[in-house]
Amino acid sequence: MVDVSELIRVADHRARVAALVGVMPVVEPPLADCLGLVLARDLVAPIALPPFDNSAMDGYAVRAADVAAVPVTLPVAQDIPAGRAHVSPLEPGTAHRIMTGAPVPAGADAVVQVEWTDAGTSAVRVDRAVAAGQNVRRAADDVAPGSVVLAAGAGLGPAQLGLAAALGFGALPVRRRPRVLVLSTGSELVGPGAPLEPGQIYESNGVMLAAAVREAGGEAELLRFVPDDVGRFHEAVGPRLGSFDLLLTSGGVSAGAYEVVKDALSGRGVEFTRVAMQPGGPQGAGRYRGVAVATLPGNPVSAQVSFEVFVRPALRAAMGFARVARPTAVARLSSPIGSPAGRTQFRRGAYDPVSGRVVTPVGGPGSHLLSALAVSDCLIEVPEDVTELAGGAEVTVHMLHGG
Ligand code: AMP
Ligand code: MG
Repeated sequence: MVDVSELIRVADHRARVAALVGVMPVVEPPLADCLGLVLARDLVAPIALPPFDNSAMDGYAVRAADVAAVPVTLPVAQDIPAGRAHVSPLEPGTAHRIMTGAPVPAGADAVVQVEWTDAGTSAVRVDRAVAAGQNVRRAADDVAPGSVVLAAGAGLGPAQLGLAAALGFGALPVRRRPRVLVLSTGSELVGPGAPLEPGQIYESNGVMLAAAVREAGGEAELLRFVPDDVGRFHEAVGPRLGSFDLLLTSGGVSAGAYEVVKDALSGRGVEFTRVAMQPGGPQGAGRYRGVAVATLPGNPVSAQVSFEVFVRPALRAAMGFARVARPTAVARLSSPIGSPAGRTQFRRGAYDPVSGRVVTPVGGPGSHLLSALAVSDCLIEVPEDVTELAGGAEVTVHMLHGG
C-alpha cells in the first residue's frame, strides 16, 4: 500500500511541469499560420477602418436635402464602382450611382438604396427621402488609427485574423508552438498492420498523445515506440532531443521490474514520483540534457488523463494563454461513484448541459478502459478527501474540448 501522505498533490505536479516548459519565444509567422496562437504584443492599428467614407448600399450618392421632397428625378453624373481611386465631387442637384464599399464623393452626405429608386443610369427617380448620413459608413467608424485593437495575450481565431488582415498586417508577433517529441515504451507494443502475437498489443498512446499535443496548439513529432531497453531508449531519443521543447514519454515509470523510462532517466535530471491522483499516479518530470521531460504512465487512460491534467496546461501557458484550463461546469451526477481516499479522481463522463446539467459516468475507474474515454466528453473530478458520491451530488466536470 502506498502511504498517501507521501503523494504529491495534483496542483504541485502541474505547476512543476508548467515551470519546466516555460514560455515560448516570440516569432512573426505569416497571418495564415497564426490560427490558434497568442498575440505577443498589443496590436496597434496603422490605419483607420473603414479607411475612407464609403457606401453601405448599392444605390445613389446624393445630398439629403436634394431628395427631401420625393419623388424627385436627378441627373446621374458619375458611376462609382468599389475600388475606384478618384471620385469627383457631387454637384448639388445631381446623383452618383454608387456600389457598396465605393468611396462616397465629397459633397454627398447620404446614399439612397437602389430599391428606393427606378435604378436609372442617366437620370434616377428617387421615391423615398433619406436622412443625412444614411447608408454612409464613416472613416474610422470601426477602428481609429493608433488604437489598440487586440491586446497582448489575445487568442487568434478567425475573427482576429480577419481584423489583422483588414488592417494590412501580413504577419503577427506570436509565441511559437511548443515542439514535443512523443515516445511510447513497452516491449509488448506493435505497430498497426503487424499481426498480434500472444502477449502483444497495438501501440496506441503515441498517436493519441501526439494528437493531444496538436489539439493543444503544439507541434508533435511521433517517435512511436521503443522496447523496454534502456539502450534502445537512448538511441531513439538522443539524436532527436535537441530540437524539442518537451520530451513526452508514456509507459515504463511505475513500480515494476522493467521500467525503461525510469531506468533511463533516473539520476539524470528527471524525478519520478507518485501523484495523489487516479488514474495517473506514477509521474516523472525534470530536465534531461537541457530539455523539459514529462513521463506519463502507460495505461492509455492514465496517459491521456495525465496529459489533460499536467501537460496541456503547460503547453497552453508556454504559448502565452492566460487561461490554460479547459472549460469547467458544475453538474449533478446521474449515478453514484466511489473514489479512493487521499487521491483526486478523474472519472470519464458524458455531460448534458441541456437537461439540467447532468453528468453520467462512462465506464468504471479502470485506466485501461479506452473505449469509455473515447465516448466521454469530460472528466468528473472527485476531490481527494471524498470517497463516495451519491447520485444527484454536485461535481465539477472538466470538458475535454474547448479552452
Ligand atoms: P506501463 O506504464 O509501461 O507499466 O504500462 C501500463 C499498461 O499500459 C500496460 O498494460 C501496457 O501494456 C499499457 N501500455 C503502455 N504503453 C502503451 C502504449 N503506448 N499503447 C498502448 N498500451 C500501452
Ligand atoms: Mg511498459
